[in-house]
Amino acid sequence: MDRVNPATGEALGVVEADDEAEVETALETAAETFETWRDVPLAERENLLSNAADVLRENETEYAELMTEEMGKPLAAARSEVEKCAWVCDYYAEHAGEHLQDDHIGTEPGVDSFVAYEPLGPILAVMPWNFPFWQVFRFAAPHLTSGNVGLLKHASNVPGCAAAIEEVFREAGYPEGVFQTLLVGSDLVDDVVEDDRVKAVTLTGSERAGRAVAETAGAELKKTVLELGGSDPFVVLDDADVEAAAATGARARTINSGQSCIAAKRFVVHTDVYDEFVEAFVAEMDALDVGDPTADVDLGPQARADLMDDLHDQVERSVAAGAHVELGGEPLDREGFFYPPTVLTDVPRDSAVAEEEVFGPVAPVFEVADEAEAIDLANETDLGLGGSVWTADRERGTRVAREIESGTVFVNELTKSDPRLPFGGVGDSGYGRELGAMGIHEFVNRKTVWVQ
Ligand code: NAP
Repeated sequence: MDRVNPATGEALGVVEADDEAEVETALETAAETFETWRDVPLAERENLLSNAADVLRENETEYAELMTEEMGKPLAAARSEVEKCAWVCDYYAEHAGEHLQDDHIGTEPGVDSFVAYEPLGPILAVMPWNFPFWQVFRFAAPHLTSGNVGLLKHASNVPGCAAAIEEVFREAGYPEGVFQTLLVGSDLVDDVVEDDRVKAVTLTGSERAGRAVAETAGAELKKTVLELGGSDPFVVLDDADVEAAAATGARARTINSGQSCIAAKRFVVHTDVYDEFVEAFVAEMDALDVGDPTADVDLGPQARADLMDDLHDQVERSVAAGAHVELGGEPLDREGFFYPPTVLTDVPRDSAVAEEEVFGPVAPVFEVADEAEAIDLANETDLGLGGSVWTADRERGTRVAREIESGTVFVNELTKSDPRLPFGGVGDSGYGRELGAMGIHEFVNRKTVWVQ
């Protein structure tokens, strides 16, 4: 696996992938470890997770620098990501017991009927590069604590992060085999999914990868959770605080240099505030610093050259279809894979940036006549991950939030994940939920027991 620094384009070295014998050893270790790990008292598993939070905090700088080096995230954002990983560990260390306690259901006198939550076994996690620590910890924190063991197949461009995460669990004191990394390309995923020792699969990534893994898992009758792409609407209604919407909108679009599944991807703006919003939004986007991600910047490079090329192709196709470039629109003329904050208006509703997921700092802005058209346009996508609605009226915001077909909607705030709240999508954004109580219940046997 080639490691490349996206800020410079320079090769960082090659990491040897695992061969079939190493994968076989890992699978056998996972299956054997599960037999003892499942019986470790929950309190002990929670303690280990607290230790993992400590290890993350102690080594924040090292892990942040690794992320920045491998995928170009600005260093401050990488530090925040490590802190968020520690938070999700703290959350489940504190709440796993409550989420996993037997759920007693009073069916009738003299009968004890309850639901017990029991682990399934080795779970495969196929993960993306964009939040290379967070995506893994939001899987591992709940599911290791419920008594499963984890096998991570990380994205091929972040093998250093994969190895470092395995080391976090080792340093925290987890038994060998509870969390293992498989350094393999996507071509070996099917074999692992089909292996009898693997009991379920979770994938965070593109729709294409999700369909491929779900097809194989479906043939094996194995449970899957899919966290796929998003094309989140950012709806600005006529009574919104336009300045606040523009400032937050610029952050929501450019978070992680635009490479976030829940980034605001389509700006849907009421005609009464359209001109004011565009002016303020362009100013906010223009004020963002793009550059060396180890410095104090807002945006770093795109994570890979091919991803930047695909992004620019989407912009070019949309401009050819009639979109107008208000800001940006060309890769920066410098080393590395830098794309500037870009704003497009007069965007045809069947153009690339309207219909496809745009995974970079490119914001199409659409003008709508009224609230009903705003909701129609917000829902004009097969993806349904998140969304954001801006209005001075909380009741109106709640009502519009209910009309948006997605897994999450935030009113007067950008969409974000939170360990306490379930996270996931509908439609082609996938299914299942991560985080919160629902997240930890995805990979357990919800066993009904009746005793009389
Ligand atoms: P990706 O290309 O689908 O890769 C994600 C993971 O899937 C990688 O580990 C990749 O391995 C693997 N993979 C790719 N094709 C596969 C196949 N046919 N079979 C099995 N595994 C396969 O996605 P990405 O470019 O890394 O990430 C961006 C996408 O992820 C965007 O669509 C984004 O919206 C989505 N995402 C969703 C969420 C969410 O929570 N819903 C969060 C973050 C990102 P290799 O690297 O070896 O190819």
